[in-house]
Amino acid sequence: MNEGAALVDTMRYLESVGLNRGKAGNVSRRYGDHHYQITPSGIAPFDLTSASMVVLSLDEKPAPVGAIPSSEWRMHQDIYLARPDVGAIAHTHSNYATALACVGRSIPAFHYMVAVAGGDSIRCAPYATFGTQALSNHAVSALENRQACLLANHGVVAVGANPLSAAKLALEVEQLARQYCIALQLGEPVILSDAQMREVMEKFKTYGQRVE
Ligand code: 13P
Ligand code: ZN
Repeated sequence: MNEGAALVDTMRYLESVGLNRGKAGNVSRRYGDHHYQITPSGIAPFDLTSASMVVLSLDEKPAPVGAIPSSEWRMHQDIYLARPDVGAIAHTHSNYATALACVGRSIPAFHYMVAVAGGDSIRCAPYATFGTQALSNHAVSALENRQACLLANHGVVAVGANPLSAAKLALEVEQLARQYCIALQLGEPVILSDAQMREVMEKFKTYGQRVE
């Protein structure tokens, strides 16, 4: 089995659904107990090969030899360390979510589907330069009790059990961001109450098909 294929497929999925263009974004997955596997830096999805995926230790910095991992390896590493529930991470620069992040806006509970990210908002982490420890710290905080967040003046981070489910959540976030942008143009969006969002979160526990 070619183990990097899931990351290549996910990067191509993100491009095919219009969430990333060119070299934007990156994907990783947990790899055993002490490692994670991440996309290499600066390679567009259709130029990626499964053999080019980089395996990094969760305990150390990448060695300064061999393939250069995504410039966001710190953020991926720190999310895995802080969140044992996370199996994979997708990072995008999708248009509407990034537009909101460029005006520093979190996504409030304007639509019940905001609950797919785990709570009553999708937070926008403060700005820091890409690839820095500061950005990583901001992302970990914004992801507290959440499965996704925005990164100011940058993009989106979504987490999941596997690369494709993280990418699908990034798509939900983009859809919500688009709807929120449109609603803002029409007037003041009505924000659902804490009680209304708690009810949605409760219903989500049994929503969809039951797998026997
Ligand atoms: P990498 O190609 O190094 O992963 O960078 C893309 C990106 O989105 C940086 O934030
Ligand atoms: Zn980025």
